[in-house]
Amino acid sequence: MSAKYIFVTGGVTSSLGKGIIAASLAKLLQARGYSVTIQKLDPYINVDPGTLNPYEHGECYVTEDGAETDLDLGHYERFLNTPTSQANNVTTGKIYQHVINQERQGAYLGKTVQVIPHITDEIKRRIKLLGETGEFEIVITEIGGTVGDIESLPYVESVRQLLWELKEEDALVIHLTLLPYLNSSQELKTKPTQHSVKLLLESGVQPDILVCRTEHAINKDMRKKIALFCNVETNSVIEALDVPTIYDVPLMMLKEKLDKIVLSKMKLSTKNEPDLESWKNFLVRHKNPKNEIRIGLIGKYVELPDAYKSIVEAFIHAGAFNEARVRLQYIHSELIGDDNVAQKLGDLDGILVAPGFGERGIEGKIIAIKYARENKVPFFGICLGMQMAVIEFARNVIGWKDAHSTEMNPKTKHAVIDMMPDQKKITAKGGTMRLGAYVCEVSKDSKAYKAYEKTKVTERHRHRFEFNNKYLADFEAAGMAVTGINPDTKLAEIVEVKEHPYFVAVQFHPEYRSTVLNPHPLFIKFVKAAVTFNQG
Ligand code: GLN
Repeated sequence: MSAKYIFVTGGVTSSLGKGIIAASLAKLLQARGYSVTIQKLDPYINVDPGTLNPYEHGECYVTEDGAETDLDLGHYERFLNTPTSQANNVTTGKIYQHVINQERQGAYLGKTVQVIPHITDEIKRRIKLLGETGEFEIVITEIGGTVGDIESLPYVESVRQLLWELKEEDALVIHLTLLPYLNSSQELKTKPTQHSVKLLLESGVQPDILVCRTEHAINKDMRKKIALFCNVETNSVIEALDVPTIYDVPLMMLKEKLDKIVLSKMKLSTKNEPDLESWKNFLVRHKNPKNEIRIGLIGKYVELPDAYKSIVEAFIHAGAFNEARVRLQYIHSELIGDDNVAQKLGDLDGILVAPGFGERGIEGKIIAIKYARENKVPFFGICLGMQMAVIEFARNVIGWKDAHSTEMNPKTKHAVIDMMPDQKKITAKGGTMRLGAYVCEVSKDSKAYKAYEKTKVTERHRHRFEFNNKYLADFEAAGMAVTGINPDTKLAEIVEVKEHPYFVAVQFHPEYRSTVLNPHPLFIKFVKAAVTFNQG
């Protein structure tokens, strides 16, 4: 089976939501029975976003196979409910690294190694890789950045070559643009769209379909005008209005017939109507909550909610499941102190301490956890949040005032969180953490088991430090139980405070596995506990 390829490019500005459009189209095609995957090509030179500060591109998303990737892959998984992998995120850094390594091994037989053909060949190889697995009928490739950027050029050229190489019905280009609305003249403007299509044309790529982001509906005449000047069919000018939630976008694209147009251009059957029953059910629950709760998200990147994208989305999934609107309050951990904690956290129904790295804001997180533990507020700690829960317990319940993680205090006498021996030798930063999916055994007598309803689960990781098993007996004796362990390494995966209505903290990242159709059990139970707390 040879796959069909859909390329999604963006024009005019960044942040138009290419990832959501790509994921929505994929959802519709999947709902019609096609096997689809989505790939993101990122034009930056970092080998992966693992080394990027979250302020740069938001959250770093981790796949089952341990790739540190762009947050758009999270959207792909949340929409499609199927896992992505290393192959789904390619960066300029990865491309060049591969080509340069090949060159050092003499693979180019004395030739001058150049952007064209060597870099473009490598880009094309990466695009076709997913199609050649035989797993997918359709591969959607999202080209990061905006057409016209210098760094996007090799990608656009690779798309041009693939369009030439592949049969007409086996590849097409969707270009996402913006129709700005001028308040003074009260009209939508098409000129930036025309210009961005011209830029694509300069690189030899004619888009087949235009998806136009707009704040106002576009009428027939305007569609015709855009079609005429951009050389596409009138029905291939798709309106993408602003909508209340990203999860409305597939239905909006269905109304605009984006899936039908794509399928007919690719000579694929449109016979099966898309089955979106469960998707629509989710939306009904999401939009008609019976309760409202406030959850505090305590972190140090709170100025940029994209830094916690998967957590935010996991709450939307779990909220809909519980028919509760989750109002997330982003609280900067640096601003929490002993004197103001009650005032800052007093009206919350649940407290989540977020993942993170480094020392900034650490003490505020510990104070927030103490507040949650003592006041019996439902608590959920993720990764660093779990490590801080362990430290808080060691300091304030067991009484080891100097307890810490060696990440923040390498000299502490009570290193309750410590680096694993195999991590100690590592100095390189990229891709060297404990990454990807590991098995966790859940003990039956636990809140975690009540959530999962099974004893063997798999969860994704991204960290270097771990619970120090040297102190396990002390913790258990004092009332903090390890209720999830890695069966091979015996590393602690889940800890719970027994004398608390809901205090669960996990070393892994459950948020990466929450999807619209499969909300994560731990988020479901945390939201449920917060609803109970709110009503109690
Ligand atoms: N900084 C911690 C570690 O490396 C936690 C990482 C995280 O929260 N993702 O172990």
